[in-house]
Amino acid sequence: MIAQAFGDLTLLRFERLSREPGLVHAVTTRPHNYAPHRGQGAEMAVANRRRVCEILGVDFEKLTSPSQVHGGEVLPVEEADVGRGRDGRNSALRFVDGLICDIPGVPLILMSADCPLVCAYDPDRPAVGAGHSSWQGTVAGATTQMIRLMARRYGSDPARLLTAIAPSAGPCCYEVGDEVRRIARTRMDDADDFFSPHGDRFLFNLWEANRRQLIAAGVRPEHIEIGGLCSICDHRLWSHRRDGAEAGRTALVIAFR
Ligand SMILES: [Zn+2]
Repeated sequence: MIAQAFGDLTLLRFERLSREPGLVHAVTTRPHNYAPHRGQGAEMAVANRRRVCEILGVDFEKLTSPSQVHGGEVLPVEEADVGRGRDGRNSALRFVDGLICDIPGVPLILMSADCPLVCAYDPDRPAVGAGHSSWQGTVAGATTQMIRLMARRYGSDPARLLTAIAPSAGPCCYEVGDEVRRIARTRMDDADDFFSPHGDRFLFNLWEANRRQLIAAGVRPEHIEIGGLCSICDHRLWSHRRDGAEAGRTALVIAFR
């Protein structure tokens, strides 16, 4: 990913997506926290969100967010939703982990401390999508659901979509118990491809599982960028596994002009 500093604030961008003139996006870094409800420095979160919007040239008032409940539901953003969740989770779209949006200038914002955030850009409609794909969302097929919804609602051709998987708990560190593997096996035919034994537990490769879902939904492999930074071992990122209750949240912001 490309890192760019703006004073004491560093933003990361995906290489392929950063070449799209109509698209604006960024992934934030520590020590800044973007979740008003969680972790160290939460009282600065709204000011931090405003600052990132200013840097990206998008309107803070239109920042729109799902409440993120570790599920697989994705909703299209309607005009009345614009700005929901901009200053906290209470007003965010409830019961939802992903949003798709075909309204220009509406930045989607999602929070993470280990969970993959997956984004997609349709340069033709144009439209964007962003989803929170925790292990529960991953086994529920949240990423496939987001791409299929873009195709159904917006007529997006999955083969034209440019997608990316943001920094999150990597295959090097993301350890889970056997129940997670067993649940994944009841939901995903290819589950065994994503787990490797690690002592009496397993490493779950969430990046590959989500990459596979993008491909299953029709996205071309060369249109998938994996950020490749692990939130647990890369200290630029917030990690719930590493930092516990002190963990702030990393934000992904994406919009088209
Ligand atoms: Zn790691």
